[in-house]
Amino acid sequence: MTDINKPVTTVLQQNDEHWMHYALALADKAEQAGEIPVGAVLVKDNQVVGEGWNMSICQHDPSAHAEMLAIRQAANQIKNYRLLDTTLYVTLEPCAMCAGLLVHSRVKRLVFGALDAKTGAAGSVTDLVRHPALNHQLEVTSGVLAQLCADKLSSFFRRRRQEQKAAKALVQAERQEKQR
Ligand SMILES: [Zn+2]
Repeated sequence: MTDINKPVTTVLQQNDEHWMHYALALADKAEQAGEIPVGAVLVKDNQVVGEGWNMSICQHDPSAHAEMLAIRQAANQIKNYRLLDTTLYVTLEPCAMCAGLLVHSRVKRLVFGALDAKTGAAGSVTDLVRHPALNHQLEVTSGVLAQLCADKLSSFFRRRRQEQKAAKALVQAERQEKQR
């Protein structure tokens, strides 16, 4: 007899969660470098073909988003600018730049965690990955480990605000010390 109270998880769901955990571990690398914690991994036949994490600040490169770096690495490795039959897992909904890149590179499927209400281009602000007028549409699954992905970002921003506040207080204290 099947337990109707037990949530049914499919093999696809389990696989999606496995790779999202992988992407979350890449997001940790970004965080360790002081970058906004976003991680992305490109998978083909259940194998990693490219991975990346946000590096915009340390590389002085506004295009160094996790998805961009994962796709560049994969294309370089596969030696093809078309990344057919691949799935991109990313912890945060892609921006317009990265969504455009996914269309150009013909990635088959996009799986993401947290929604990005401010810059998300896979349904939140706009939807470039499923735009009917474009020449390629991706299959999209959103909300995989969404809470974990969102918590990682919000705790990063909370900590950064506290650090900025502490730095400001320190500067003010030094200034008062000099005036005395
Ligand atoms: Zn992006």
